[in-house]
Amino acid sequence: QLIDPVKVRLSSVRISVIGCGYLGAVHAACMASLGHQVIGLDVDEAKVASLNSGVPPFYEPGFAELLDEQLAGGRLEFTTDPGRIAQAQIHFIAVGTPQLAGRYAADLSYVRAAVQTLIENVDTSKGPAVIAGKSTVPVGTARHIQDLCDESGNDLIVVWNPEFLREGFAVTDTVHPDRIVYGLPDDPDRAEVGRKVLDECYAELLATGIPRLLTNHPTAELVKVAANSFLATKISFINAMAQLCDATGGDVTQLAEAIGYDDRIGKKFLRAGVGFGGGCLPKDIRAFMARAGELGVDEALTFLREVDAINLRQRDKAVEMASNLLGGRFVGHKVAVLGAAFKPNSDDLRDSPALEVAQQIWSRGADLVITDPAAADALRSKLPNLNVVDTVAEAVAGADVVLLLTEWQEYRDLDPRELRALVRTPNIVDGRNVLDPQRWADAGWTYRGMGRLAGPAAARAQV
Ligand code: NAD
Repeated sequence: QLIDPVKVRLSSVRISVIGCGYLGAVHAACMASLGHQVIGLDVDEAKVASLNSGVPPFYEPGFAELLDEQLAGGRLEFTTDPGRIAQAQIHFIAVGTPQLAGRYAADLSYVRAAVQTLIENVDTSKGPAVIAGKSTVPVGTARHIQDLCDESGNDLIVVWNPEFLREGFAVTDTVHPDRIVYGLPDDPDRAEVGRKVLDECYAELLATGIPRLLTNHPTAELVKVAANSFLATKISFINAMAQLCDATGGDVTQLAEAIGYDDRIGKKFLRAGVGFGGGCLPKDIRAFMARAGELGVDEALTFLREVDAINLRQRDKAVEMASNLLGGRFVGHKVAVLGAAFKPNSDDLRDSPALEVAQQIWSRGADLVITDPAAADALRSKLPNLNVVDTVAEAVAGADVVLLLTEWQEYRDLDPRELRALVRTPNIVDGRNVLDPQRWADAGWTYRGMGRLAGPAAARAQV
């Protein structure tokens, strides 16, 4: 039995979002802001309580205000009770798909559990419901979920609807995505219903002209991992160039600018530094390689192994740079690390390059102090052994080397003269290539960037 699309309410869709982390909680609040009735389901009671009381369990610009507004509007609620999702017309799956311990492959146990919850709780007696998959999954997952739903006897239509939001811009990206992809089931009738129900959900966004692409299940799943693989490759490409610049006296920031004028290349994602991290790119490229292996096409993606290796080498490189500035040993030296989150405007510490560099330096015996504008509390609970402080001034007091590892605006804006007065030895490792080397050198600092010239050499390179 298919929904008569004409009878689907045009203004408001009943939605459930399963998994209310960085993606799901923001998605739930944004869907409510589009006028839909939304219930967010999570297994984490503390997270649900926090969301229901209007306190975001993570830092994301604009989210606190949006959450407050939508809770007050009465269209948004969070629960741990799976029975509450029974009547929703669309169920977004937004649970985690982390890397399996000791393997490259993705851990699909959370997705399996979410599907099981759906099968046990949805009520499709009055017509089908749509499962819209947002989690990043190995290609083949959507078809498998469709099979599981069919075997269960529920009238569930699976559409894969990958999410491209960037942490730090999650709210804006959710309501102004640059494209929307529907991976539809092979059955044309089901595909049509799935498309219409999602069109209903995104009507307001589609009306603004956002491109909507209709694909089959595998294409939609591949679009997401292909996009992340491309971005990771771009970052590792420029980091490889940084290594060449270091070896030859070139300057990678100038190189990036010069090649970026070619609009086939473009300037974005061409900043060399300590590389990518977070809960997506690293695990996504590894899961992609693992899946390619299962499919017998691993050779197609062996380049991603190198992309991953280049990325991880940048972390080691930052450690070595700091070590060299200290004469080869960390013991007996105070090291200040600015930034712990994997990127600015986020408190996400998952696979953070900043944190890994800090941990390596700490494990080599340094007296290490670390700070981050948003992630300090998360860091204290995750790694209680680290000396975490709240301000830059506390972090750099008496330091022998300062490492800038997450490019928060307030770190980019630091005044080298003011900071010079606080440290013991003015050594700076600019792990994100965001500082002006000449300005720091002029203030008396020994500056080291990633593949970047410093001091008089940089000034000469400008002319
Ligand atoms: P997250 O770990 O922040 O959130 C996952 C949430 O799912 C957690 O709150 C967890 O408690 C909950 N959960 C786990 N099992 C559950 C179950 N059976 N029922 C209900 N809730 C359950 O992860 P995230 O960063 O939000 O990512 C989620 C997915 O979205 C991943 O596949 C990720 O790759 C993808 N994604 C994330 C982003 C991003 O920027 N974070 C962007 C695009 C895609």
